[in-house]
Amino acid sequence: TATIGVLALQGAFEAHAKALESLGVTARLVRTPGELKGLDGLIIPGGESTTFLKFLERDGFLDALEGFVESTPTFGTCAGAILLAKEVRNPEQASLAVLDIAVERNAYGRQIDSAIITEPTKLPGGPLEMVFIRAPRITHIGAGVESLAERDGSPVLVRQGHLLAATFHPELGHDARVHQLFLDIVAAKR
Ligand code: GLN
Repeated sequence: TATIGVLALQGAFEAHAKALESLGVTARLVRTPGELKGLDGLIIPGGESTTFLKFLERDGFLDALEGFVESTPTFGTCAGAILLAKEVRNPEQASLAVLDIAVERNAYGRQIDSAIITEPTKLPGGPLEMVFIRAPRITHIGAGVESLAERDGSPVLVRQGHLLAATFHPELGHDARVHQLFLDIVAAKR
């Protein structure tokens, strides 16, 4: 079976590990660049992208991760999606720049910055519950990127080949379909 890493420097990594384990997959918490070795896929969880960057700037972690996401399935949620994005605004900040999307951080405004919405998506199985916490807004997607779900007309779940990104927190919902989709991407790659 596949071994999936969950970047565990900061943020919502435990809930991702549980979601993976509920789908019968071994989750490995990744805290050093060496722990990326041998993984079939990686989840970069939500949290605070600026704090992630601070940790990643140590020990060559950012370089190792850049190489990893180039060809290994990676799923970024919220702050993780920001880290994968080619372009980050509000404010501009460094990223892995591998996923052809532009994001604006904390873009849903104070009143509605955190919300739970249930909307139809392109995933089979009916409407999906999506938990947003100080989410970024995806303001642009490149030609090679597919939008699988939207909120207020902006994509919130996107896929580009072996890369998946959600601006919401699928690990906090009661629905395993988004994690399952990622596992399907991992299985196809293997
Ligand atoms: N607001 C955070 C950021 O800009 C993301 C929030 C989250 O991951 N829940 O990095």
